[in-house]
Amino acid sequence: MAKFTSGGCGGHHASAMTLESALDAVLKSVKVVAESESIGLLDAPGRILAQDVISAVNVPGHTNSAMDGYALRWEDTRSAEGTLLRVVGESFAGHPYAGASLRAGECIRIMTGAVVPESADTIVIQEDTQRDGDTIKFQIECRRGEHVRLAGEDIKLGTAVLPAGRKLRAADLGLLASVGVADVDVKRKVKVAYFSTGDELRAVGETLENGQIHDSNRYTLHAMLGEAGVEAIDLGVVRDDPAALRKAFAAAVERADVVVTSGGASVGEADYVTDILAELGQVSFWNVAMKPGRPLVFGKLHGAEFFGLPGNPVSVMVTFLQVVRPALAVMSGAPHAPPLRFRARAASRLHKKPGRMEFQRGILTCREGADPSVDITGRQGSGILRSVSQANCFIVLGLDSDSVEQGEWVTVEPFLS
Ligand code: AMP
Ligand code: MG
Repeated sequence: MAKFTSGGCGGHHASAMTLESALDAVLKSVKVVAESESIGLLDAPGRILAQDVISAVNVPGHTNSAMDGYALRWEDTRSAEGTLLRVVGESFAGHPYAGASLRAGECIRIMTGAVVPESADTIVIQEDTQRDGDTIKFQIECRRGEHVRLAGEDIKLGTAVLPAGRKLRAADLGLLASVGVADVDVKRKVKVAYFSTGDELRAVGETLENGQIHDSNRYTLHAMLGEAGVEAIDLGVVRDDPAALRKAFAAAVERADVVVTSGGASVGEADYVTDILAELGQVSFWNVAMKPGRPLVFGKLHGAEFFGLPGNPVSVMVTFLQVVRPALAVMSGAPHAPPLRFRARAASRLHKKPGRMEFQRGILTCREGADPSVDITGRQGSGILRSVSQANCFIVLGLDSDSVEQGEWVTVEPFLS
């Protein structure tokens, strides 16, 4: 089989694409899933809203008190000479005051969250008053409207509570419940079929013969796809055999919007993924200037997006997190959000050669009164999965950057899950 040498970026080193332009090409190429479905709130965490949610109610629903105290008419208050009012009733949370409108010189006892009657406009807090039988006295000056939460001041009836494209999290679910929304329209999940390639791979539980290893990529991919909120379709391990790979490619596109493979994408004798993608679909690029992460193949296979990730376990994680995850987010209907990155001081020297963008794995420490500091998690080989397991961030070193000396500022990208 002819080795793949065209269809994107030419030679192996000189014309590698930057990660930025590769990601740009991917995000321009992918399409948001069209279909949506209605689901109950309890099934909604992690799902993406298909349309704005409009509130059919005011939040709060009633003007209510923010404090325990007395509800009164502001015009009845004085300052220096003191205010004296008669307590004519009470309003408790869930038990509003049912009496007549307050008249001059009257107030009611009120608790936090209880309805403020229409004839009152201001709350004086309990600690500022002296009670004597059915009268209260206070010296302080009140502001009109003090400690009153107005109906609709949080969310106004008819306004958007959450926008389309929102990935629903805990606070969003609470917010939706607070406006009485029981079901939401969300995008259907993106379907991702994935498999590992390699004659040396054996599933967990199988005994290893000489030269065989356990397939770890399918497990990291399973977890990362789960965190990305997609429907993951596990197609197992496929041998380094063109016929078997063609069959697997066909089975994958039949069921999925996205195909993700690991291994076999390089230029070795037994690496067929790129060639078969060129044969059955289109290769958009296969050579990105990042480390770890080469080779990373991207293209189309019939209607599906195709990501051929490298075989090395760390490379799989880095390419997935930097390229596949943002693509899946956009396909799921969320707006693209660049990763959260900031600066920390290198706790030790970081070895780097110019020419590729590097994602070293680090442990970030933030202590009060000191600059954030980051150190690498030991040896950084692309086969050393412990370097990711122990890390809480990537140390992101730019394409042209050289080694970093201890104490210099570097960019870090914390792991958010
Ligand atoms: P390849 O890209 O197929 O040449 O693989 C590069 C390296 O990653 C080789 O050492 C493979 O044995 C290893 N590798 C490939 N796939 C997996 C996998 N699914 N799990 C663990 N290691 C793998
Ligand atoms: Mg291989």
